[in-house]
Amino acid sequence: MMNLNFEEILLAANGKVVNEGNREFNEISTDTRKIKEGSLFIALHGENFNGNLFVNDAAKKGASICIVDDLCYDEKTIGSTSIIKVTDTKQALLDIAEYYRKKLDIKVIGITGSNGKTSTKDLIAAVLSEKYKVFKTKGNFNNEIGVPLMIFQLDDSYDIAVIEMGMSAFGEIHRLSKAARPDIGVITNIGMSHIETLKTRDNILKAKMEITDFLKDGSDLVVNGADDKLIGIKSDRLNIIKVGIDNAAFCAENIKFNENSTTFTTMIDHKKYNFDIPLLGTHNVYNTLLALCVGNLLNVTVSEMQKGMGNLEATSMRLDIIKKDNYTIINDCYNSSPSSIKAAFEVESNINSLRKVAILGTMKELGDESENAHFEVGKYAKESNIDLLLLTGEYTDKIKEGYNLKNVFIYDSVEELIVDLKNKIKKGDAILVKASRSMKFERIVSALNKE
Ligand code: ATP
Ligand code: MG
Repeated sequence: MMNLNFEEILLAANGKVVNEGNREFNEISTDTRKIKEGSLFIALHGENFNGNLFVNDAAKKGASICIVDDLCYDEKTIGSTSIIKVTDTKQALLDIAEYYRKKLDIKVIGITGSNGKTSTKDLIAAVLSEKYKVFKTKGNFNNEIGVPLMIFQLDDSYDIAVIEMGMSAFGEIHRLSKAARPDIGVITNIGMSHIETLKTRDNILKAKMEITDFLKDGSDLVVNGADDKLIGIKSDRLNIIKVGIDNAAFCAENIKFNENSTTFTTMIDHKKYNFDIPLLGTHNVYNTLLALCVGNLLNVTVSEMQKGMGNLEATSMRLDIIKKDNYTIINDCYNSSPSSIKAAFEVESNINSLRKVAILGTMKELGDESENAHFEVGKYAKESNIDLLLLTGEYTDKIKEGYNLKNVFIYDSVEELIVDLKNKIKKGDAILVKASRSMKFERIVSALNKE
């Protein structure tokens, strides 16, 4: 239950009361569709909407307080709903979250990186779960609206909050960190996502490093040392721990991929331990090493961490293996980028199958790198011994060019691809399905699931 009152809201948001009314509220909401009696509604602006226009609606649904940056309500309709005017409602949301976070006696672990944030968040929460009461970001609420909403779900009954932070431009992780005030920072990798806006991977690294902006001196920053950009980072101020480096602590050895799990050994406090994780791919081994390191920093014993891993709730559509009578589907249609495709090919190559098929779409938001990145994916496909490529979307001709083998089919639409599946898929195939989120490749997975 949130412990925040009307005066504190005014102070944190630097707001002015323009309609005096109710002062009590039970939750903070930014979506009038979900408003309940007694909510505090913050009227945000979206690409296609202006939340200020929904204030009347919010009041009718029982909102006790509304925070607005434009006065478009009808006085009669709002009645006793308090109206607080601020300069910018999105900023007010972040400022209130920051104020509330500072009141809480909770350790926050902030996670960023190009890929693997959600997976690592789930892993860290699992590793800590035997010893602590842990809150973790729900689903993928990792942006400037999602992170404040997650912070509002915290209260002092929790010991630790594991908060995912996403970004698409400079300054975002800075603002999220200002609100969430992490005690420990984690960076999973530096990939190509958002290179369209940030231009280079060095800039992406710089943007992710904003997670350190509000870490106190001497705090821990845990990063994946197997990443060519993260291996080079330095700080006079922070304790940087790089996991996944040969011959160091938290380095994985004897990695073995099984049908549904991966086993490896790692050194923790000078002793070797075996781990068996219900996840596939080397990238998930690195994500687990990050989690084990965080657990170790927070004094969780190895046996508690091993037990805690049993509570792992992996979020769906990320490398989900679905065994059918005639073939195996690797459902990774949640999203796509060059580094995650590489990870997915690796997982596919460890699955027992007669042929390896990849159904790929476009990797979006790669800007000037788009053509080259799709060409490289085609090359990876060849190097990974993929036997058949079924493609649809932009830049698929580049994938075909990079693959440079015969077995490639390009379709004008997902629908056409689905119709042709019965002619292309054979008994004994392993079929990877992967594209950027907006291509909704889960339609292909459902079609394959029905066969
Ligand atoms: P989003 O930006 O959409 O929130 P995310 O960073 O939370 O993504 P996940 O959802 O955990 O990432 O994983 C998405 C995909 O990224 C996985 O299916 C996997 O293919 C790939 N991936 C996960 N971890 C790593 C990693 N450490 N390095 C490279 N690729 C990874
Ligand atoms: Mg995520």
